[in-house]
Amino acid sequence: MQEKKKIVLVTGASRGIGAAIAGRLAPHYDIWLNYRSDHDSAKAVQAEIESRGGCCRLLPFDVSDEEEVKAALEPLLDDNKVWGLVHNAGITRDTLVATMTREQWDNVLDVHLTAYFLLTRVLARNMLFARAGRIVAISSVSGETGQAGQVNYSAAKAGLIGASKALAREMARRNVLVNVVTPGLIDTEMTDALPKDKLLPTIPLGRFGSSAEVAGVVNFLLGEEAGYITGQVIGVNGGLYM
Ligand code: NAP
Repeated sequence: MQEKKKIVLVTGASRGIGAAIAGRLAPHYDIWLNYRSDHDSAKAVQAEIESRGGCCRLLPFDVSDEEEVKAALEPLLDDNKVWGLVHNAGITRDTLVATMTREQWDNVLDVHLTAYFLLTRVLARNMLFARAGRIVAISSVSGETGQAGQVNYSAAKAGLIGASKALAREMARRNVLVNVVTPGLIDTEMTDALPKDKLLPTIPLGRFGSSAEVAGVVNFLLGEEAGYITGQVIGVNGGLYM
């Protein structure tokens, strides 16, 4: 009989880095694929995974909405153990702080940081009970260096690093490993509008990264060979920050 695969929830996986992570993990895990609104893209990711024999459950909900998080996940947890969480969902609302609205601040903090709290709070019980699990937060080089025009985003991404290190300490005794990946400039919709000609000279490797390059590191962090890695921040940034 075929052994049941572990379940990994990937948030914000209807496109971009999240979709690449879901696709990369799919041969090894059953994927719970979260996104908020882009149903067509999410279905395309699901179809691609299933065409390769993988298993992918679509879970559309807003990760920053406490009631939606509970309603989507809690009933499923009665019959399923989630082994891994990759919190990747993200948005930007870039502007200088002098012109930043309260809404732009709140929205960005909510989707990245508050959602991490809401998701880990729901899943932690499962993982602690199972005495096994992996959590990876997709932060950003902006959370390490700070980025002008991104006070909200840099704060949220730096917050993910602090929260992950605290959680890593909290959950280590139960063999739940918690790490952070900090991508630099990656080719996705989020970076479509950036001035590439100005940015490329600032990257030692001289190019934007690919979603697949981020996904490979996440796959490693979820794998057996990463069993002694917790509380770490792994940059995937072409040398942008060393
Ligand atoms: P993207 O192409 O804009 O995709 C964002 C994903 O997040 C979409 O699937 C979107 O789903 C989902 N999402 C947004 N708000 C959500 C919410 N409230 N609830 C659930 N899902 C939500 O972004 P990306 O470039 O792949 O970035 C992925 C992650 O990497 C983000 O955390 C980002 O901050 C981080 N990152 C990206 C870069 C880069 O250069 N691209 C660099 C550093 C870090 P729907 O469209 O269906 O709502």
